[in-house]
Amino acid sequence: MTSLDSLGHLVGGTPLLSIRCRFRGREFTLHAKLESINLTGSVKDRMALHILREATLSGALQPQDTIAEATSGNTGIALAAIGRALGHSVRIYMPDWMSAERKAVISSLGAEIIPVSAAEGGFAGSVELAEAFAAGRDDVFLPRQFANEANVRAHEQATGPELLAQLESLDLVPSAFVAGVGTGGTVMGVGRALRSAHPETTVHPMEPANSPTLRTGEKRGKHRIAGISDEFIPPIIDLDFLDEIIDVWDGDAILAAQALARDLGLAVGISSGANLLAAVQLATRGTGENVVATLFPDSNKKYLSTDLVREEPLRADYLTPDLQLLGFEACACPRLAPLGV
Ligand code: PMP
Repeated sequence: MTSLDSLGHLVGGTPLLSIRCRFRGREFTLHAKLESINLTGSVKDRMALHILREATLSGALQPQDTIAEATSGNTGIALAAIGRALGHSVRIYMPDWMSAERKAVISSLGAEIIPVSAAEGGFAGSVELAEAFAAGRDDVFLPRQFANEANVRAHEQATGPELLAQLESLDLVPSAFVAGVGTGGTVMGVGRALRSAHPETTVHPMEPANSPTLRTGEKRGKHRIAGISDEFIPPIIDLDFLDEIIDVWDGDAILAAQALARDLGLAVGISSGANLLAAVQLATRGTGENVVATLFPDSNKKYLSTDLVREEPLRADYLTPDLQLLGFEACACPRLAPLGV
């Protein structure tokens, strides 16, 4: 089967975009890693490959084992592709209301989808069913992305050091990093890497203003920023380590993602628009120029049947109408040492 090392050439090492912006009379540059360049088109390939790498090397994942995980989106696609490349059977438990495209991508990658109805508990029910499938069996591996510290290490050992090396090549020191929280692996891992190199860097989680989970500790309201803000605070999130939470309205995130595609040719997903607006908020604080970094987790391809491609109504408190995207430079990723465990 395909080796972990070979897959390592297809995951990570993403370019850094330095995007020149104008917002309410100020010009500044924001920095974002373009994660749609990964094997299956999202940042989740990093976590999937690293969890499977650590588990293979420790013996927790044996060659004949089935990988089983509850996920509705990019993680399912990443685990299906990387799991199959490594020769494993893959079972993905997902709520049955997920889009037809999403199910088709995962099943085309040879994974088995177990649809879970709202009556069976939806997303929380999917987690329970995956756990129940593995209970008492020693031939099932559960990545448990929300609780697995290897998810954080994927970003601490690769995404973060890549970002630092790219900023350094531009003679920049990060002042702040911000990322929307799904599992929290990205913000915790990149945050740790940046803080250990530059202790004064602030590290901010972002969540939807219309459905704050981190602020409230539970699911409140609905939002359309796919991939972030699930029903609970993930166990790998340490709010004491993180700085102020940044809020972004989902409609504003949609408008920002549309602007990145229309004005700069960067066809990104909704959470990328949200990360951009969170970075704008941090960059325009104070009087000096802050070096603010984030990432663009995926492309727009999975959202072509959603509000991302429809006209989004404006609201007075949105930021995008005041934001002009002037252009960008891309910086390649230097080769770093291969990931260890
Ligand atoms: N954006 C998208 C599109 C995602 O799929 C995810 C992962 N669920 C995130 C952002 C958040 O990443 P993380 O799980 O590392 O917090």
